[in-house]
Amino acid sequence: MDEETKIPQATAKRLPLYYRFINNLYLQGKKRVSSKELSEAVKVDSATIRRDFSYFGALGKKGYGYNVEYLLSFFRKTLDQDETTEVALIGVGNLGTAFLNYNFMKNNNTKIVVAFDAQKERVGGEIGGVPIEHIDNLEEKMGNVSVAILTVPSQAAQGITDRLVAKGVSGILNFTPARITVPSTVRVHHIDLSVELQSLAYFLKHYPL
Ligand code: ATP
Repeated sequence: MDEETKIPQATAKRLPLYYRFINNLYLQGKKRVSSKELSEAVKVDSATIRRDFSYFGALGKKGYGYNVEYLLSFFRKTLDQDETTEVALIGVGNLGTAFLNYNFMKNNNTKIVVAFDAQKERVGGEIGGVPIEHIDNLEEKMGNVSVAILTVPSQAAQGITDRLVAKGVSGILNFTPARITVPSTVRVHHIDLSVELQSLAYFLKHYPL
């Protein structure tokens, strides 16, 4: 645990990326990997990779590279691959439906186990094997889920957030453009797809590569 807390946040964010690639190498039977190979595959410069990997206690040797098995066991331990985080999704519109159909389990340790919507016609069935419940029954049906994905319209975001927080949710992935307010004990990651897209277009125009 102490080892984990020493990893800088920026490094921790790249960990799932490394994990996915290293796991594929392992499945292919590869024993080692150079920082150059890694760099090309995950599109992170090799100096950053070397610095990141030094936090993992992985010391690459010149002409040898990194030991794939060691890295994999470190990543598994750190990412708690054996322990699945259960997630609730709120708002089964176009984006929410896409997430339910997307198999998060493929390379990840998270799983959407329940979804909620306010429209009666959307409630009762399943999408991608995930049951859809009515938002009125949120507290009753979400069980011990600690992470929620918000794909509702902006104006619904704060009200639902307050209910999630009261129920004990500790992490929210907010796909609505609304800035939501939570206590300092709750972590919110905000992904505004239209802002990201605008920002990409802006950079392409003003800072061409
Ligand atoms: P669609 O138009 O097909 O619903 P969308 O993603 O564009 O797709 P939004 O208006 O963004 O639709 O709403 C997303 C989903 O959130 C809808 O399914 C809607 O019924 C649901 N929703 C709206 N308000 C709430 C609420 N208060 N609680 C739970 N779900 C809600």
